[in-house]
Amino acid sequence: MKILVLNAGSSSLKYQLFNMDSSEVLAKGTCERIGAGGAITHKRTGSEPFCEEIDLPNHGVALERVLSLLCSAEYGVIASVAEIDAVGHRVAHGGEMLESSRITESVVKYLETIVPINPLHGPPAIAGIKACLALMPDLPQVAVFDTSFYSTIESSRYVYAIPYEFYENDKRRRYGFHGTSHRYVSGELAKALGKPIEELKIITCHLGNGSSITAVDGGKAIDTSMGFTPQEGIAMGTRSGTIDPTVVTYLMKTKGYSAQEVEDILNKKSGLLGVSGISNDLRNIFAAAEEGNERAKLAIDILVNGIKKHIGAYTAEMNGLDAVVFTAGIGENQANVREMVCENMGYLGIEIDKERNMNFTRGIPFDITAKGAKVATWIIPTDEEYMIAIDTQRLASK
Ligand code: ADP
Repeated sequence: MKILVLNAGSSSLKYQLFNMDSSEVLAKGTCERIGAGGAITHKRTGSEPFCEEIDLPNHGVALERVLSLLCSAEYGVIASVAEIDAVGHRVAHGGEMLESSRITESVVKYLETIVPINPLHGPPAIAGIKACLALMPDLPQVAVFDTSFYSTIESSRYVYAIPYEFYENDKRRRYGFHGTSHRYVSGELAKALGKPIEELKIITCHLGNGSSITAVDGGKAIDTSMGFTPQEGIAMGTRSGTIDPTVVTYLMKTKGYSAQEVEDILNKKSGLLGVSGISNDLRNIFAAAEEGNERAKLAIDILVNGIKKHIGAYTAEMNGLDAVVFTAGIGENQANVREMVCENMGYLGIEIDKERNMNFTRGIPFDITAKGAKVATWIIPTDEEYMIAIDTQRLASK
C-alpha cells in the first residue's frame, strides 16, 4: 500500500510518500513560500534532492506540482497517481475530535467551525484537504489530529479555572499538541522495552523549537504541558511557555501594546530567544554559554528547570514512573540537556549512564539508563509522518 502524507502550513506543504509494505519512505519534500512566490525541494530516497523555484499561488497548485514530481520519469517514484492508495493529512488542531478519522464532508465542516480557535493552522490544513479532494476525489483521505491523543485527559486537567462559561460556550480549554509524536514515541518505547504499553507509566519529552511534555499512563495521555494553544507549558525556542497572565494585561495597560503585539512578543520573541537575546537555536545558546554569556546560561537553566518540574508533576499525577523518553531536535541531539534534566533525579528513580548519553547513536531508539536505575530513560527518534501513515493505512483499509 502506498500512502501520501501531507502536512500543510500557512505557506508550506510538506509531503512524504510511504510504501507501507516495506515501511519505506519513497520520496519526500517541501513546498515553500506558497502564495508569495514558491519553491520546491523534492527528494527521491537514495537520490540527490531536486530544487526548483516555481510560482505556487495556492496549496492546490503546490499539490499538483508535487504529484507531477512523484510521477515524473526523472525524479518520480510511481508511474501514475493511481498508485497512491490513500492520503493522510496532519491536522494540528482537531478541536474535540476523539481520534483520527476518514475525511468526510462533515469532518471538513467541523474543522471549519473551529477555525476561530485555530486561526493559524486551521485554514492551510483545510486548504490542503480540499486540494486533495479536488485532485483525487476517489481516494480515501484520513485526518490525523495532534490533539486527539489528549481526548483521554480528564476534565480536571483540561478545564481552566476561569468562569465555566468560557469553556462551555467558547471552548476555551486545554487541548494539547504534538500528540502524534507523543503517541508514536510512547509506543516505540514500549516495543523497545518489550512490555505492553498498558503496563507502563511514561513521560515523553518532545523538545524541539516547540516543546511539550506528556504523561502517558497505560498507553493513554493523562496530562500534557501545552494547552489552549501551543503557547502553554515549558519555555520554547521563541515562545514564553506558561507565564502569569497578568503580565499580559500589565504590558497592555502600561506599555500600550495591542493584543496582537503582546501575542507576537510571547510567541515569536520570547523563550530561549527572548531570555538569551542570542537565538532560538539551542546550539547557538550553548556556544554562547560556553564563552561565559550569563543570559545564555539563564535561558538553558529555565528550559531545564521547566522540564524537571513537569517530570516531577507527572510522576505525582501517575503515582509512579517507569520510563522517560527524550525526542525531537533537542531531545534527540542535545546530550547536555538530557544530562542536566536527569541530574539529581535519583529520588524519582531516574539515573542515566553519562557515557552512553554522550556517545549515543542517532536515529534509533537508544537506551541511556544507568545500570540498576528504577526508571528507564531512552532517546526515541520521533516520526510523526510514519504515525500518520499507519493511521491512514488502518482507516483507509476499513
Ligand atoms: P521544530 O519544533 O521546529 O520541528 P526541531 O525539532 O528541529 O524543531 O528542534 C529544533 C531545536 O533542536 C533547536 O534548538 C536545535 O538546537 C536543536 N537541534 C536540532 N538538530 C540538532 C542537532 N543535530 N544537534 C544539536 N541540536 C539540534
